[in-house]
Amino acid sequence: AKAEGRCCFRFYVSEMSQNVQLRRTLETDLRRALGRGELAVQYQPQVDAKTGAYTGAEALLRWYHPEKGLIPPTDFIPLAEEIGLINAIGTWVLRQACLEATNWPRHMGVAVNLSPVQIMDRRLLRSIKTILSETGLDPKRLELEITETALLGNDEQALATLSAISDFGVAIALDDFGTGYSSLSYLHRFPIDRIKIDRSFLQSIPEDSDSATIVQAITRLGANLGMKVTAEGIETEVQQRFASNAGCDTLQGYFFSRPVTSAQLMSVLETTLRAGA
Ligand code: C2E
Ligand code: CA
Ligand code: CA
Ligand code: CA
Repeated sequence: AKAEGRCCFRFYVSEMSQNVQLRRTLETDLRRALGRGELAVQYQPQVDAKTGAYTGAEALLRWYHPEKGLIPPTDFIPLAEEIGLINAIGTWVLRQACLEATNWPRHMGVAVNLSPVQIMDRRLLRSIKTILSETGLDPKRLELEITETALLGNDEQALATLSAISDFGVAIALDDFGTGYSSLSYLHRFPIDRIKIDRSFLQSIPEDSDSATIVQAITRLGANLGMKVTAEGIETEVQQRFASNAGCDTLQGYFFSRPVTSAQLMSVLETTLRAGA
């Protein structure tokens, strides 16, 4: 038993050091990714629930690793947060998204995800203002998506920062709503313009009647608080019809489009314009 124990312990150590090694490599690679042009932003259209017209798009970060290929953001954003890279990366995403959105029709906005770490950075407001003035994007066309995690803990500073951003004309959306802590007090303490219902609720429609009830309840809550409501993760026509009937303002999901490049987004817009004319 002792020998076996030693063997397993050794196995564990070597597996652990392998993970540490992998992580170190990824860390080194991530530090270089920005400078080497390996990061890119894709955009997922958001559509008007009633007309189906594009109202804007959400910016989603992509990392094209030279050997490993496409690495999803959920695999490297937590790492970027840990090693202090998220502010640089987040600022780059914001600039890129604002720049590309200036090529879109004026009625379309762009939504950018903010890490909780960025919200705690005192330079955030200044960098948003600088990016908007340098790119010339109207602040009203920018929306920042935050999660409830960002509002936990140091919420006095989060409140001050988000209020200043909101006063500047930039909209704030509460992402992944219904998961996490969902303390309803956030909704009136913070300057929230939009609620994004987490995709897990939409995706269990029509099988799960509880999810359907939750989507309807969140939509009504948002509307009564004067907020816009987006349903995320719409994959089927049934889900689209349900969210639209529930009263959601905007819909987003693979049913309409996967995330695409800004150029692809514009070519779709041109095609629909030509088809409509
Ligand atoms: P999120 O903000 O909730 O973004 C929506 C995610 O759902 C995206 O995954 C999108 O591709 C995916 N999605 C959209 N429609 C559907 C659908 O119909 N079905 C399914 N199954 N999925 C759908 P993605 O691009 O892999 O991003 C994952 C997460 O990574 C994002 O979740 C966000 O939390 C984070 N993220 C992405 N880009 C950024 C960024 O620039 N900054 C920060 N801080 N986080 C980001
Ligand atoms: Ca989001
Ligand atoms: Ca989300
Ligand atoms: Ca308010």
